[in-house]
Amino acid sequence: MEKEKKSYGAHILALPYPSQGHINPMLQFSRRLVSKGLKATLATPIFISKTFKPQAGSVQLDTISDGFDEGGFMQAESIHEYLTQLEAAGSRTLAQLIQKHRDLGHPFDCIVYDAFLPWALDVAKQFGLVGAAFFTQNCAVNYIYYHAYHGLLPLPVKSTPVSIPGLPLLELRDMPSFIHVAGSYPAYFQLVLNQFCNVHKADWVLVNTFYKLEEEVVDAMAKLSPLITIGPTIPSKYLDNRLENEAEYGFDLFYSEPSAHTINWLDNKPTRSVIYVSFGSMACLSEAQMEEIAWGLKGSGHYFLWVVRDSEEAKLPKHFIHETSGKGWFVKWSPQLEVLANDAVGCFFTHCGWNSTVEALSLGVPMVGMPQWTDQTTDAKFVEDVWKVGIRVRVDENGIVGRKEVEDCIREVMEGERGKSMKENAKKWRKLAVEAVSEGGTSDKNIDEFVAKLIIRS
Ligand code: UDP
Repeated sequence: MEKEKKSYGAHILALPYPSQGHINPMLQFSRRLVSKGLKATLATPIFISKTFKPQAGSVQLDTISDGFDEGGFMQAESIHEYLTQLEAAGSRTLAQLIQKHRDLGHPFDCIVYDAFLPWALDVAKQFGLVGAAFFTQNCAVNYIYYHAYHGLLPLPVKSTPVSIPGLPLLELRDMPSFIHVAGSYPAYFQLVLNQFCNVHKADWVLVNTFYKLEEEVVDAMAKLSPLITIGPTIPSKYLDNRLENEAEYGFDLFYSEPSAHTINWLDNKPTRSVIYVSFGSMACLSEAQMEEIAWGLKGSGHYFLWVVRDSEEAKLPKHFIHETSGKGWFVKWSPQLEVLANDAVGCFFTHCGWNSTVEALSLGVPMVGMPQWTDQTTDAKFVEDVWKVGIRVRVDENGIVGRKEVEDCIREVMEGERGKSMKENAKKWRKLAVEAVSEGGTSDKNIDEFVAKLIIRS
């Protein structure tokens, strides 16, 4: 797995899209590159950098500007305005950052940029850097976007199921939401399509997945672009079940609550008895939906650990926290990898963001998927029908997942016959994830090749 190697001096600049679900895997990947002998600097917009804990372990931190240094995304009037400014101010300040490191005598050799930021490749090429596009989401979702970008998937989709090489037949509800909900978030839709506008100029295309997980679609997409799989980016200490050396990696960069209470609470629960509930860093549920989840969890009779962000707290039913104090544990943010690696967790009730999905797969935790938007719908399809490690909730005619559905799905995973095979499958995927990043595994070899070529060049 990751072992310290002599530093050869090749220096990469990692540039994630500025959101939690994109920064986490980019930071983890950067640390893996450092463990293989590269130097790495991760740059985020100034506003985001203010929310970081000061240390990022072995990775240096630096900043660019997104044009909203005081409030970041929240300061912008629309998604469109934010993305326009991010590109304009980002391109200008990225060039300054590359020049600054040159002047200081530790120039970059390569930029690993989030594929959501294709303009970064244009800037890096002006300085002669190697460019590696980093696809944060899985191959299946990106292959669907690829088809849409090249007009191979005429929009709006009129007849279903849709057939795309390497993918199972897809109904509309299995497509990324930008495709299946007409006119939804046009600025974000453009963002995901634009990933392909100049990717042919990239020297590398890295995808945060592992080969066995998406074998067919990786093979199909690799015919069109020279991509390599490099995931899961999860630190090997979690995959190894070795939870020491915490200081080396630090917890999640944004994590601010003391985690000890949460882990202590989990440590005192029987094996596979707890449902971990989290909808990631962005999803906002309606009050009616929060209420149904709350009563469904209570009705299941199982212990639950629920991440309820500040913005969601007022939506909980009155007195719910107090009433469920024997069974429930509420946090505003959790050390998710550590939670999923804890033996007490038997099921992850998740929105199926790609990081959460691949983390659960890699740590062998079966899921109840309640996707909200973007790629989550496609991830949930794969969780249920392809990887068979979970169950996807059914939405009722009012667009709500009712309490009985929540309860039934949890029971199915925790106690049902299907749940038993999901648990077996979860163990299988965990083993394959560990193999992929262990010495000689598919992702490990790909990363070694990437590193070796950079070292020769530098
Ligand atoms: N996460 C966490 N603590 C939480 C909730 C989420 O550490 O309480 C992390 C999680 O491990 C994952 C990321 O935040 O790495 C969320 O990314 P994902 O793609 O699942 O969802 P998004 O937030 O992008 O919707």
